Amino acid sequence: MRKVYFDNAATTRVKDEVIEEMQKYYSELYGNPSSIYNFGQLAKKAVENSRVKVARLLNSNPDEIYFTGGGSEADNWAIKGILSANEKKGNHIITTKIEHHAILHTCEYLEKKGAEVTYLDVDENGLVDIKQLEESIKDNTVLISIMFANNEIGTVQPIKEIGEIAKKHDIYFHTDAVQAVGNEVIDVKDMNIDLLSLSAHKIHGPKGVGALYIKKGTRIHNLIHGGAQEKNKRAGTENVPGIAGLGKAADIAYNNFDQKREKLIKLRDRLIEKIDKEIPECQLNGHREKRLPGNVNFSFKYIEGESLLLYLDMEGISASSGSACTSGSLDPSHVLMSIGLPHEIAHGSLRLSLSDYNTEEDVDYTVEKLINVVKRLRQMSPLYSKREE
Ligand SMILES: *Cc1c(COP(=O)(O)O)cnc(C)c1O
Repeated sequence: MRKVYFDNAATTRVKDEVIEEMQKYYSELYGNPSSIYNFGQLAKKAVENSRVKVARLLNSNPDEIYFTGGGSEADNWAIKGILSANEKKGNHIITTKIEHHAILHTCEYLEKKGAEVTYLDVDENGLVDIKQLEESIKDNTVLISIMFANNEIGTVQPIKEIGEIAKKHDIYFHTDAVQAVGNEVIDVKDMNIDLLSLSAHKIHGPKGVGALYIKKGTRIHNLIHGGAQEKNKRAGTENVPGIAGLGKAADIAYNNFDQKREKLIKLRDRLIEKIDKEIPECQLNGHREKRLPGNVNFSFKYIEGESLLLYLDMEGISASSGSACTSGSLDPSHVLMSIGLPHEIAHGSLRLSLSDYNTEEDVDYTVEKLINVVKRLRQMSPLYSKREE
């Protein structure tokens, strides 16, 4: 049976070159970067080398990159660290209703501790309203945290405009760019971004390593206290192999940027057009154009996303759904609810997220199987037989 991996927004295959790069920091150059002898300094060199490569991908300075234990840690650090260091100015955060849980649950935790949080609405395509953002700014606002691109529906926000507003009002701007890195043009200088989170495993690097870009001069407290690593800002012996892997993945993302984007957009649009044409009563979720190159998200009427996933799995296809039965909650995804989908439509959603390992054959095979699975599930659905014609 054919195996198709269409869940690259969840995690990606580590590139062979990345594994090769990481290997030597386990078995040969396993020194501690804090050790002053040469063997330790060779490990330190790998860390500094990666810093340059990650910085190049964001157009930041290398000394503005701090390695973390992943995207969630970077998000936690940005929000908790800024709020804690700027208490004198205020305790109000502006974010959106469609953020990743690493942002939303951090904000909810801080609200319990007394912080004030505004969760901005998005429109039916998942876009933030710039005017509404500006109107929600108050004297005590210290941070705007808005994701670069959404992990479920792929919508890409007007980041440069948000950065301009933050700058105009002298408020820190953080963006969770975990899904955008390597897929969208990112320029932290041009876009007035003060803090940016990224994660290695979403760009064909290893799991459990990421980075937070912190603009020079930003007032931020530590999340992890301890040793003097990362210029006293993030303690703990560096994950040297992981960081070397992230550097290599960043390097590949930088060098293949245009080529990868072009390939993904072609595959994505082939997938969208075929599904649209071949399957009745479905709708694309997320913005049609302002969209990640590898994101496809459809809702199919009269169907449960969970059953869709199980049937696709039996055909060798790995995908994801906005239906939340697996997480023990009856509510569908907060993102799909925020763009105004009725419960039953949100429950019938399917996310197919692509990488440059995917092919046209993957797309065609998946559509062919999807047509049959949707047909079968609808035949079993009482809602479908009772629908109004
Ligand atoms: C995956 C993801 C994260 C979390 O990153 P981890 O490295 O898995 O902790 C945060 N934000 C977004 C948008 C993501 O897609």
